Amino acid sequence: MKNWSNILGHERPRGVFRRAIDGDRLHHAYLLTGPPGVGKFTTAHALAAVLNCKSRKADEFQPNCGECSPCRRIGDRQHPDVLFVEPPKRVIKISQIREVEKASISAPYEGRYRVVVINDAHTMTEEAANALLKTLEEPPERMILLVVTDQPHRLLDTIISRCQRLRFGALDEATVADALAVEEDDVDDDLLVVAAGFGEGSLGRSLAMLRSGMLADRREFLERLFELDSRSIIDWLDLADELSDSTDELESRLEIITVVMRDILLVKRADPERIINADLRELIESQAPRFSLEAILTTLDALMSAKRRLDHNVNATLLAEDLVDRIRDPDERALYPPA
Ligand SMILES: [Zn+2]
Repeated sequence: MKNWSNILGHERPRGVFRRAIDGDRLHHAYLLTGPPGVGKFTTAHALAAVLNCKSRKADEFQPNCGECSPCRRIGDRQHPDVLFVEPPKRVIKISQIREVEKASISAPYEGRYRVVVINDAHTMTEEAANALLKTLEEPPERMILLVVTDQPHRLLDTIISRCQRLRFGALDEATVADALAVEEDDVDDDLLVVAAGFGEGSLGRSLAMLRSGMLADRREFLERLFELDSRSIIDWLDLADELSDSTDELESRLEIITVVMRDILLVKRADPERIINADLRELIESQAPRFSLEAILTTLDALMSAKRRLDHNVNATLLAEDLVDRIRDPDERALYPPA
């Protein structure tokens, strides 16, 4: 767990918590929304420690110390008064919300507050959501509910209206790069900046890209991609085969091709300072003349639709084959659109 003082960005929602604790005006339920991987859950987890940290004086905000027994046990998810509800597979079941109901009957065992963090709350089944609603209608004393989701539109309106809503925005690239430097201390600074660009304001996504190792071998992959002959269908099918090795790999590769195509677009529009693959600028500038604007847009469309289908669990092999077929010769496609 990150301690409160190590969380980067999100001054506004964090300020709301700080002032509420200072004035002893904590609401009983908060809804933390915003894009994936920006720190909503991390903030909720750290808040549970802030509320129960031994070094905090009553009604006074202070970042958690990270050292005392409650801080350490909350960090390890071993504190009896801090409950985490998360989808074990795809959904949060009613039995999990029943545990929350059960806990809400008694006062906290040892902490100042009982804190319940419901992560990916939009995955609650209808029954689970209705059960949670009951707890929200009769909020127990000294219990704080932190409802975390990146898809609030999938929650019941009645749940949303009973929570104070806190919006978490995307992080700026410099903040992400700084946070990455803390997490991955043996990575080159240039690569950290590239990873921050790839994450589009999500620390989680940037970290995943960095840890996949695919950012590090982008150059090799892209050089190979650019050398493929559009007429050599066999080579493209080999590429599809390689891409579909694993869904994670496919996802990362799609992202890499998408970002490089956007970079090529920026170069064509004479705006090369904004490219994300800054370390590959030469390669990108050398490729730009090969692509017409139309070809770039056709390719980006194909990549977007492949990403959408990947989210819907379409077979990776079929998806990769369809994709290479669409990006293999984008100019031809643009000139001769399917009838
Ligand atoms: Zn502490």
